[in-house]
Amino acid sequence: MSRENVFISAAETAKQIEYAHLAQSLLELRFGTNPKAYVHTYGCQGNVSDSERIKGLLRTMGFSFCSSAEEADLVLFNTCAVREHAEARVFGNVGALKPIKTKKRDMLILLCGCMMQQPHIAQKIKMSYPIVDIVFGTFAVHRLPELVYRRLQGSKRIFEIGGEGNIAEGLPVYRDRSFKAWLPIMYGCDNFCSYCVVPYVRGRERSRHHKDIQAEARQLIADGALDITLLGQNVNSYGKGLDTGLDFSDLLRLINDTEGEFLLRFMTSHPKDCSKRLLDTMADCSKVAHHLHLPFQSGNNRILSEMNRRYTVEKYMELIDYARLVMPDISITSDVIVGFPGETDAEFRDTLELIKRVEFTSLFTFIYSPREGTKAALMPDPVSREEKTARLQELCELQEKIAAERTASYKGKSFRVLVEESEGNGVLVGRTDGNVNIRFKADESLIGTYQTLTVTDALSWVITGELDK
Ligand code: SAH
Ligand code: SF4
Repeated sequence: MSRENVFISAAETAKQIEYAHLAQSLLELRFGTNPKAYVHTYGCQGNVSDSERIKGLLRTMGFSFCSSAEEADLVLFNTCAVREHAEARVFGNVGALKPIKTKKRDMLILLCGCMMQQPHIAQKIKMSYPIVDIVFGTFAVHRLPELVYRRLQGSKRIFEIGGEGNIAEGLPVYRDRSFKAWLPIMYGCDNFCSYCVVPYVRGRERSRHHKDIQAEARQLIADGALDITLLGQNVNSYGKGLDTGLDFSDLLRLINDTEGEFLLRFMTSHPKDCSKRLLDTMADCSKVAHHLHLPFQSGNNRILSEMNRRYTVEKYMELIDYARLVMPDISITSDVIVGFPGETDAEFRDTLELIKRVEFTSLFTFIYSPREGTKAALMPDPVSREEKTARLQELCELQEKIAAERTASYKGKSFRVLVEESEGNGVLVGRTDGNVNIRFKADESLIGTYQTLTVTDALSWVITGELDK
């Protein structure tokens, strides 16, 4: 079935920019000429990228940014609904704003993101958290200026969680750092993995037009981006709903061919749609990092089927083998869930087996968390929390052992890294093309540059190096 993507019109975007200017005048009356906003982002890079657009809009309203709620005139939490733990943290942190707002009654509190797109959560905020001024869902990001304006004009508390998946082009973007950039190529997800809330809170899958993506890539490169990650929940199915005929491999090649020196990454890949053609394209494109984040979730075919993942362990291994054939130096990372409802000990051991076979560079490990509205939340789940925690522990120990063996082999070798941040005390952190962090001592002026390091010490996670002369 082919569906049209819903693009927000340029006229609607222009209207929102007008609202931003109207809001700016009211904000000045309330907070003076230099209002401050504190934006805190939970969850995945999709949220980080949304927050960059949210900050772009806030800046158009005249805000500058601060690093704590205490200093802020406006506090915004961009929330995550993927696991219960993330949700609990948000409720805790909103509760902690109460004494601050009691002292600063004019302060505005805004909540948005995946968690807010769920009606039962919005209802809970409405009933139990009267300090919150505005709640808006993932489909209303572009309408932030209008919502702030209405609230400043004296509207009741605003709950804007309706609407449907759309694409808003032309919004202002504010990025904290220019050398590393997230570039969304698509939104939403149609996969309905049985444990996952994302399709319910992010809407159906929709792709941006490649011309818009190319234009943003060119702008990023002109602004100094050295490391660009193309973002989507399932980048391998890029192109659905567009009539351009381009798939993800074509898009990757197009962006790779953009003029300039930069490293190109992408995430997340879904094994069911990851093709050998894509792996060949990666191998063939000089700016694409030899790094593949390919979540496997479970090493057991029955569990994969219950998860509605639509691939088998055999298909997954075939992809890994092919990736290593065409890119022998490829770094492979993944996501895994332990304790999916009904997972037996033997099925969990299949997951350990897969980890041993692949030898991932690193893993994001999760204990299954039931999400309201998903199919898995209705499945019988007889395994205790203690047992699941023990499984996670065993899995992490195995991965640490694998990582330690791999990193020990780095000693004495040279790596090109992008210097990303300072840890303080003169220690900087650089990231390799394969997404491995190396710590080294040097001057902070090197942040945002490429350097070559030789690894001097490698202990499981902590890898230390020194600058090549
Ligand atoms: N679209 C991406 C990942 C999105 S969520 C993909 O399909 O790979 C990021 C990770 O969170 C998932 O890969 C999964 O490992 C984990 N996750 C999602 N829902 C979860 C749940 N209900 N419980 C535990 N982990 C979950
Ligand atoms: Fe969730 Fe599956 Fe979509 Fe990833 S592919 S966002 S895990 S439904």
